[in-house]
Amino acid sequence: MSKSLRMAELKKRLEILEREIRSIPGGGDIWLDQQPGSAKHMYFDGGAGKMYVKPRGINEYEIALSTNPLVDEMGSFMIEQCGKQPDKYNHPGRREPCWWVTDFEIVRRAVYRYAHKSYQLPDEVSLAPVQNGEKALMAWVEENEQRAAALPLDLLQKRAEQAPAIARKVDVLSATYIRNPEVANYAKRRANGICDLCGTAAPFSKPTGEPYLESHHVKWISNGGEDSINNVVALCPNCHRKMHVLNRDEDIEKLEQQILQYGR
Ligand SMILES: [Zn+2]
Ligand SMILES: [Zn+2]
Repeated sequence: MSKSLRMAELKKRLEILEREIRSIPGGGDIWLDQQPGSAKHMYFDGGAGKMYVKPRGINEYEIALSTNPLVDEMGSFMIEQCGKQPDKYNHPGRREPCWWVTDFEIVRRAVYRYAHKSYQLPDEVSLAPVQNGEKALMAWVEENEQRAAALPLDLLQKRAEQAPAIARKVDVLSATYIRNPEVANYAKRRANGICDLCGTAAPFSKPTGEPYLESHHVKWISNGGEDSINNVVALCPNCHRKMHVLNRDEDIEKLEQQILQYGR
C-alpha cells in the first residue's frame, strides 16, 4: 500500500471513530484535527490535552499523549493495552510518552478511552456493551440532561444545531421484572376507565375500545413492592409519569386509600 493510500485509510478510520464518539448523547466537544502543514500529525482534542495518532510504517501507528493530566489519566491504560512501556518520549525532559502499535484495535480502544475520560462517564458505563449498566447509563443520561438545562440558551442552540443527527446505539444488558398480566389487567378493569389518581377518564381508548390506562405499582417492585392487586393501580399516562418523576407522599397515600376503597 502506498504511503498516501495508507494515510487516507487511517484518516477515514479516525473520522469514523470521531463520528461515533461525537454522537454520544450529551457529549462534550471532541474533535479530530491535524497539525497545520503536517497531514500526518493527526490528533484528537477534547480539552484534556491532545492525543496524537500518527501513521508510522505499514500498519504501524504512533499514539502519543501530550499533557501531564492526560498521561496521569491514560498512561497505565496504554501500558496495559500495548503490553509495554512507552517506546520513546517525544520531548526529552517532558512527559510525552508515545507507543508504536501495529494493531488498529488498540488505536480504537485508546481513542474510546480518551473520549470516555473526556466525557467523564461513570466507570460502570463503558462505551462498549454495558453489562448490567442500565442504571448507571440512565444516571449518566440524567446528569447530561441537567448539564444541558444549565447551558445558556444561545450556547445550547448552537450545540443542538451542530449535534450529529445520528443517535448512538449502545447495547445494555439489564435485569427486569416480569409483572403478572392478570394482576395488571384486573387493576385496569377495576378502575373502569377512570384514573385511580386524578379521577378523570382515560384520555383515549385502544383500537379494541378498551380505555387506555397504565398499571403502576404503588410501592415500586424495585423497592420490594408486591406484584399484587393490593399494590397495583391503574393510572392515566400523565399521572403515571408524575408518579415516576415525583412520587409524592400525598399521591401515594391517595392511591393506597383508593385500593382500600376497592377492597370494601
Ligand atoms: Zn390521572
Ligand atoms: Zn409505574
